[in-house]
Amino acid sequence: VARTNTIPADHCPVCCRPVAPAETCPNPLCGWGDRYIRRVEAVCLKTGPIDRLLRDFKYGRVEVEWADIFGRLLFGWLAAHHDPRDYDLIVVNPTHESRKVRHTELMLAAAARHDDARQWPFDRAEPAAIVKTHETPPSAFQPWRAKKVAADRLRGALHIPDRSRIAGQRILVIDDIATTMLQLNAIAGVLRMMGDARSVDGLVLARAVLGLKGRASGSSA
Ligand SMILES: [Zn+2]
Repeated sequence: VARTNTIPADHCPVCCRPVAPAETCPNPLCGWGDRYIRRVEAVCLKTGPIDRLLRDFKYGRVEVEWADIFGRLLFGWLAAHHDPRDYDLIVVNPTHESRKVRHTELMLAAAARHDDARQWPFDRAEPAAIVKTHETPPSAFQPWRAKKVAADRLRGALHIPDRSRIAGQRILVIDDIATTMLQLNAIAGVLRMMGDARSVDGLVLARAVLGLKGRASGSSA
């Protein structure tokens, strides 16, 4: 599935957005000197079947076993591009416990199951290193301004149960989709300001393709 949605060689080093050679990334967050997230990497572009699948999975319209496929894609990508020692802790953008399908937690658990030798620092603890205390407005399908509000609300809903698990650590945050990076930046802000994390990077399964219709269809060929 991911192979048909390859991230083009020319992409923003901060948010992974496909850009033309010599083009400055139009994502406002990439230019912020005071952003909390260092960079976000993506397994593939959010187009075609994986786009539909991720949405159906999140909203409970397909079997939860799909988590295993997503977990395998994430683990395969990590194994191909990183060393287990690159990070001290791998967490997710947490969902609230009331969610019918806790899609990000399911994906992380599935990725961790592929780590037979337990070499990678997936957060396997209960409670998780970062949790969501209440539901927040959705960020998907919203314009920038609404996404900004949603990210601020998300920040207020995040809680670190045990600061000693975060302090001084290099954290990787996994999520299903990234568009503006605002959500991941909000999580990174909490991890760094409240948890005193040393650094925070992001890894998403699918990177949204904004205003790149021609390039998107070209790169998914
Ligand atoms: Zn960018």
